[in-house]
Amino acid sequence: MTSVLISGAGVAGPTLAYWLARSGFRPTVVERSAGPRSSGNPVDVRGPALPVATKMGLLPELRKHATHATGMRVVGTRIRVPLGDGEEIELTRTDLAAVLYRAAEHDAEFLFDDTITALHDDAGGVEVSFERTAPRRFDYVIGADGLHSTVRRLAFGPEERFVHHAGLYVATVALGGTPAEPHDVMLYNLPRRLVALHPARGEAGAAFIFRGPALPSSEYRDLDRQKHIVTTVYRDAGWRVPALLEQVRQTTDLYFDAVSAVRLPRWSTQRVALVGDAASCVSLLGDGSSLAMAGAYTLARALAEGHGFAAYEAEHRKLTTPKQQRIALGAGLLVPKTRLGIALRNTAGRFIL
Ligand SMILES: Cc1cc2nc3c(=O)[nH]c(=O)nc-3n(C[C@H](O)[C@H](O)[C@H](O)COP(=O)(O)OP(=O)(O)OC[C@H]3O[C@@H](n4cnc5c(N)ncnc54)[C@H](O)[C@@H]3O)c2cc1C
Repeated sequence: MTSVLISGAGVAGPTLAYWLARSGFRPTVVERSAGPRSSGNPVDVRGPALPVATKMGLLPELRKHATHATGMRVVGTRIRVPLGDGEEIELTRTDLAAVLYRAAEHDAEFLFDDTITALHDDAGGVEVSFERTAPRRFDYVIGADGLHSTVRRLAFGPEERFVHHAGLYVATVALGGTPAEPHDVMLYNLPRRLVALHPARGEAGAAFIFRGPALPSSEYRDLDRQKHIVTTVYRDAGWRVPALLEQVRQTTDLYFDAVSAVRLPRWSTQRVALVGDAASCVSLLGDGSSLAMAGAYTLARALAEGHGFAAYEAEHRKLTTPKQQRIALGAGLLVPKTRLGIALRNTAGRFIL
């Protein structure tokens, strides 16, 4: 039986494990977290992910976890744009990862609280060393370990070569309590800055998305520094922002990262390949979770049909390339640079938001 080690139990990892197991492969998933978990940001299952979720029989379960957001409002205007097309499902990444994990848990071996530390890809397989598990040999290794992929670093080279700053940073915080607007995402823009309040499933979350030059990640690795950056960038903001900043100051659980695009000339070596954000991250600017599910399905099918990594890459790039090309447009719409830009975006809002 062909053995496949998948690094990462987020969105792409469990989807891939599920489909590989159905085609007679023996998948093992190694996940750095101690249990199935992921950040609680809202993500979508739509477009090419819907047929994948349908074939997995997961639509009813995914709908049970859907957020309560039905529209998006721009603060200070009368704009309210309905969200979704009735088919797509928005849910938190935590819930999506948990539903996918439950679908795959009986068909794959899961190693939690561990990570790959070394890969040696030889002619007949891949020797893998782990932080905790004893070294093992696999036929293939797949990096489904997200934007800051370890597999990508070990097999392809340092992150700086492939991860490109999209000009924005994002910080998110769970607010707890009942949202003031239980069905609407609220957008509050200032030049170069956005605050989005999301009702999620009755427990609001705030996202601070702002423009800024590329900084070495060492400059924003620790929580106090991240809080300092967010509270400084938004110090003159009105609306509900001062109260939100107080929650940022109090939290012990802030998600903070540069919004980044991942671009590699190839997604595979002889026996190692990448899928999801590890291969083609578009961060919050374009259907990353749906692309992760669709990519995992395409990869599993290519391996099952004996077409190999090249066929997967050729097919899935047709979906990721257009998304990557629209990153600057997405950033421009979400976080215009000037008051005029905000006004123009809002004027066209009914059509483009
Ligand atoms: C703020 C924000 C908002 C977003 N909004 C949306 C949205 O509205 N719509 C949308 O479609 N997408 C959105 N995305 C993007 C979406 O979350 C990702 O594209 C998607 O989660 C990618 O799935 P993945 O499986 O490739 O990676 P991930 O979901 O990141 O999963 C990677 C997994 O690998 C694990 N891991 C990492 N390193 C290691 C290691 N060394 N060893 C073992 N395991 C490891 C992680 O713990 C994690 O479980 C958003 C992202 C962010 C940050």
